[in-house]
Amino acid sequence: MKRVGVIGGGQLAWMMADAAQKLGVELVVQTPSKHDPAVSIAQETVFAPVDDATATEILAQKCDVITFENEFVNLDALSVLAQKGVYFRPRLEALAPLLDKYHQRCYLRDLGLPVPQFFALDEVENLKSKIEYLGFPVVLKSRRHGYDGQGTFIIQDFATLEQKLSYETTTNLNQSLFLLEEFVPFERELAIIAARSVGGEVITYPVVETQQEQQVCRRVIAPAEITPNQVAEIQAIAHTLLNSLEVVGIFGIELFLSADGKILVNEIAPRTHNSGHFSLDACETSQFEQHLRAVCGLPLGNPALQCAGAVMVNLLGYENSHSDYQSQRQQIAEIPQAHVHWYGKTESRPGRKLGHVTVLLDNQTRESRSTYANSVGAAIAHDIESIWYPR
Ligand code: ADP
Repeated sequence: MKRVGVIGGGQLAWMMADAAQKLGVELVVQTPSKHDPAVSIAQETVFAPVDDATATEILAQKCDVITFENEFVNLDALSVLAQKGVYFRPRLEALAPLLDKYHQRCYLRDLGLPVPQFFALDEVENLKSKIEYLGFPVVLKSRRHGYDGQGTFIIQDFATLEQKLSYETTTNLNQSLFLLEEFVPFERELAIIAARSVGGEVITYPVVETQQEQQVCRRVIAPAEITPNQVAEIQAIAHTLLNSLEVVGIFGIELFLSADGKILVNEIAPRTHNSGHFSLDACETSQFEQHLRAVCGLPLGNPALQCAGAVMVNLLGYENSHSDYQSQRQQIAEIPQAHVHWYGKTESRPGRKLGHVTVLLDNQTRESRSTYANSVGAAIAHDIESIWYPR
């Protein structure tokens, strides 16, 4: 495979550039705006929204295989293309159970994987009994198109829930857009990146801890400080899921770890994921290279850490601005072993992912890798954030 079509032209596609060059692969991107990050690295761009399947048909004529950096696609329309012989990796059947969060939870539950208690919210009459069963707080989620916590609401009482629902249903016009689930009082959030090859080999990256604020990922610490049994359990979840869906490519799996050590799956991203960005600098084969390898039918690479650990900090927008934040980026780049990745977005907005920084850690102590990464990583993240965010 020489030419890979990518649906979506954000930073996830942009970060495939180095790997594409290394593997001799050309990227053709479908994305709406000429300002999108991946336009600058694409061999060619089809300018259209990611759910425009007519544009994807044009994209298909320019490449050998199509993959995704964004899953907000129109699967029904893409299926027509697949029937005409357009080649998708992962295949559309692997995405089908995942794009709607309610369907995704059902799929995971039916596979026997641990998930929070959940309900579809289309039978309004039963709302009270469902809430009584779950108990407050509850989590209300948009079934589709949620990202970075947009569409996820933690709700403390019935009045707020009713208010939220009547507001959202008058703006969105459809009650069945929601999923209601138990609030998980997690101790920590974890994630694992896994890849599956055309031949069915599954590899996993180290389990990481992710730290969210206002439901947006702020930091990732690799490796997570958890027990070997928990690592094995999470790896087994990844294997079960990727094998069951016969995935080809990278998936990100987000998880909750409860105070009593129980693991629940929160969410599946059927693509490269923010929790795997550390792999660009810290692993022999980054998640982006791994994805292209899988999609192109190449053997998978080594996902192991090449250093004792790593901390990744997202550089999130905190204002509306056109600044390129040159001086803050410069200061952060001066931190030893820091690698700054700047996505080149022309506009900053609060919460928008503008870039990230990964700092590699080498452990000179007798502490375990994960204990060290946890304590030193937290201190470095604090330093980076105090440079980045205004006081
Ligand atoms: P998104 O698709 O927008 O990333 P998620 O479902 O991953 O939405 O939720 C974003 C964040 O909201 C999670 O990382 C977690 O911090 C919090 N969250 C989501 N679901 C729950 C839940 N059931 N219980 C507690 N916190 C939750």
